[in-house]
Amino acid sequence: MLLEARNVSKAFGTFLAVAGADLCVEEGEMIGLIGPNGAGKSTFFNCLAGETMPTAGRIVFDGVDVTRALPEARARAGIGRTFQVPTAFEDMTVLGNVMVGAFLRHPHRSDARDHARRIVELTGLRADQAARSLGTPGRKRLEIARVLATQPRLLLLDESLAGLTPSELRDAIALVRRIHEMGITIVIVEHIMEVIMSLTKRVLVFNQGHVIASGTPEQVVREEAVIEAYLGRGHRRRQEEADGRA
Ligand code: ADP
Ligand code: MG
Repeated sequence: MLLEARNVSKAFGTFLAVAGADLCVEEGEMIGLIGPNGAGKSTFFNCLAGETMPTAGRIVFDGVDVTRALPEARARAGIGRTFQVPTAFEDMTVLGNVMVGAFLRHPHRSDARDHARRIVELTGLRADQAARSLGTPGRKRLEIARVLATQPRLLLLDESLAGLTPSELRDAIALVRRIHEMGITIVIVEHIMEVIMSLTKRVLVFNQGHVIASGTPEQVVREEAVIEAYLGRGHRRRQEEADGRA
């Protein structure tokens, strides 16, 4: 087991944004995390990566309790995450931004630059492009590249594929596949069910701060609780029509 998060909660005042969430990830898996806006997915990622300290629960990564560890210690242990809203160092180039991630494992500037160049190539970005001139797809990619440069064992992708055109989306899916094939374990938050279906074999459904369903994508989209909380009636009608045609 690479990650074992048990009964994780995060309260903001009296509001429980994450309410006893469990997530166990085996090395090599690619897991989908879906659920309505406000379900607590990003806050849960924050708890896992250390941007916020959970108010309860336990997070064990690769056998080590990291529940109270700072973000940098968790990155060093191998937890990497993208943010739903990408942030770049605007005045720096793509390469410079990716080097920021690379410095975690390569303290020498030239090593960090070499490593960052390989990551930039892998992600299909242009090393010398100014970060400020990147559009949404480029920013999403840069966010992934900077995290990849930290050499994570577990990559938490928070809506990294949102807001892309169909062809950008195809490229982004291919990139996520490539990253997974490099041996990196992935948990991906994504709203487009087709993306989840094509990438993952196991899906967890988040609602009101905890997991309400888990299983294969085909299983969870048929569960009443999931339709009620997330997919809505329209989805079920389309599903039934599709089944009727089959
Ligand atoms: P999701 O990523 O599933 O859309 P979030 O984790 O962003 O959900 O948010 C879960 C809930 O927690 C939302 O109701 C949100 O308004 C609330 N929340 C998130 N961050 C904070 C914060 N720093 N302070 C207060 N409430 C917050
Ligand atoms: Mg979110």
